Order: sequence, then C-alpha cells, then structure tokens
Amino acid sequence: MPKVLIVEDEEPLTLLLRYNLEAEGYDVDVCMRGDEAEIRLRESVPDLLVLDWMLPGLSGIELCRRVRNWPQTEKLPIIMLTARGEETERIRGLSTGADDYVVKPFSVPELMARIGAILRRSKPAVVSSMLTAGDIELDRTTHRVRRMGREIHLGPTEFRLLEFLMQSPGRVFSREQLLDGVWGHDVYVDERTVDVHIGRLRKAINRGKARDPIRTVRGAGYAFNDQFADLVK
Ligand code: CA
Repeated sequence: MPKVLIVEDEEPLTLLLRYNLEAEGYDVDVCMRGDEAEIRLRESVPDLLVLDWMLPGLSGIELCRRVRNWPQTEKLPIIMLTARGEETERIRGLSTGADDYVVKPFSVPELMARIGAILRRSKPAVVSSMLTAGDIELDRTTHRVRRMGREIHLGPTEFRLLEFLMQSPGRVFSREQLLDGVWGHDVYVDERTVDVHIGRLRKAINRGKARDPIRTVRGAGYAFNDQFADLVK
C-alpha cells in the first residue's frame, strides 16, 4: 500500500484528496503546516509527497528544498500544488526539486493519474503492475493487454484510456475528466476526441460477441463497468 503525505492547509481539499486516495488503496497522512510536515518527514518517509506551495509555518518551496537536502528524502517523489498565476511562472522557472506540479483548481482524477504515474516510475514495487477485470488483463509495465488470453493491440491513447478507466471501476468520468487524466492538462483537444478513441478502444477489445466492459452514461461520460467481471464469468 503506497503511503502518501499531503501537506496542504485548505481543509476541504485535504478531505477530498484523502477520500479519493484512500478509495484507491493509498495509505494517507495529512499535515496542515509546513513546519509540522518537516517533523513528520524526519520521523517517517512516505512513498510520495503532495506539497502545497503556500503553507503556514514553512513554505512548500522551502520544505521542498530541505527535503531534497536530506539523504533519507532526497529521492522522495514530490508533486507541488500551486495557485494559477504568478506562482506557476515562478515554479516553471525555478529548479524547486519537485517531480511534477499541478495548478489549482485541478481535477482530482488528474492529480490521481499523476500520482499513479510517478509512483509507477519511482516505486514500481509498491504499485501493482497488473490490472485485471473479468477476462481482461492489462500490464502497465509491458503495456500489454490480453482478453481471454489473447493479446490485443491498442494504440498508446487507447491503452492509457483503458488503464485510466480500469483503475476506478464503476466510476463515471466526464469527457473533460478523461481529457485531463489521459491526455494531460496542457493538451487542448475537442471533447469529441474522447468519443473517437472510446470507439477505437471498443472495436479493439470487443471482438465477435465479447461483452463490452465500457459503459456509456448518457449526458455524463464513460465508466468501466464494475459488474463486468461477473458478466463474463
Ligand atoms: Ca495553501
């Protein structure tokens, strides 16, 4: 179970992040002050740090520098949270030592996708590389997908789309959330692009009379059917 420490002084945001991370099996700890987070980090090192830029006690940027200077935490993955505007420009220009940054307001699925991506890179042992649902197996390490034991060839976008949906079975994602989580927030593409790639994904994985694991939720978006494993038994 990967351990994530969230250092953020906006309580509603910490509650939202804790709820979503715990739902995906993370072990979550929250600190609302920078100086307290420093003490916490000296006691135990998590697998990943989500760090707000503006914090009482000690700023996120200063904590980030200190974390990089301690031998125990020099390689700790850090995602910085910043407000839109001046901070974004500064964080881009500075070598803060953060592995990634996310600009507020951000979508939770986007942050979750970034946390997952960094952990798979930095701590593959704590993140399972296989996602399985019914007769579909997705291997994140080799980027291979099998259905009923037969290999399915997917384009890179279809692969990421399937991975993103399989990570949260039953959860309905809007087209905008899928764009954020799969294409990334710096890419500006039309929401209909999502429908095109969902269509290609379906075509590739549903050969013959195979059941469709993807649910279209009218007016809302798409979900990986959480009943799918029972349906294909
Ligand atoms: Ca703050």
